[in-house]
Amino acid sequence: MLNIILFGPPGSGKGTQALKLKLKYALIHISTGDIFRSEINSQSSLGEELKSYMDHGQLVPDELTFRVLKSYLGENDLEKSQGIIFDGFPRTIPQAEALDTFLAERKEPIQVVLSLLVNEDEVVKRIVLRGKSSGRSDDNDETIVRKRMQVYRDQTFPLAAYYTAQNKYVELNGEGSIEEVFTSLCNHINRTVALSEGADVI
Ligand code: AMP
Repeated sequence: MLNIILFGPPGSGKGTQALKLKLKYALIHISTGDIFRSEINSQSSLGEELKSYMDHGQLVPDELTFRVLKSYLGENDLEKSQGIIFDGFPRTIPQAEALDTFLAERKEPIQVVLSLLVNEDEVVKRIVLRGKSSGRSDDNDETIVRKRMQVYRDQTFPLAAYYTAQNKYVELNGEGSIEEVFTSLCNHINRTVALSEGADVI
């Protein structure tokens, strides 16, 4: 099993790269943002609640995030994949701790956290551009986008230290072309796989 977290600020290209990695390595892609948006599209009252946080650039509270994710996992068979690529989750320390507990029970821990480094003005530019075609209400307003960046710095970036302490955190340049970033991600993943296979041999 190959369990990976793609880490980085909003607009750093996690979603685009996750889709490519999913195909190349036969992974299940778990994006809490996508799961929340599909709940919003179903026009449920839960969706309304999720939207109220997302439209303000705030994180969905952990308890609510866990509830939605658990129900998603219940409906999707993780056993059939070669592993999981997490995109946009975890976003807080309690989420990372809950994920570690969940994966420890399955004896399939996160192997590597790949962090895409992109300068803040560049990501704001990318998101506002994406907002013109994505129809995402949280992409359209620069004030909300800046708020999301601040939430990332305050609540999500501390995960870099959390995973560094586990020796799993790797930073790479997220500012190249899609193909350049993809190649760099694949190189890191291949190295992680080779190391884990080497460790098995020993
Ligand atoms: P994303 O599609 O990953 O950019 O997420 C869009 C929005 O969904 C975020 O700004 C948050 O409001 C919410 N969201 C997505 N994933 C999480 C998460 N793991 N924890 C809390 N809120 C989340």
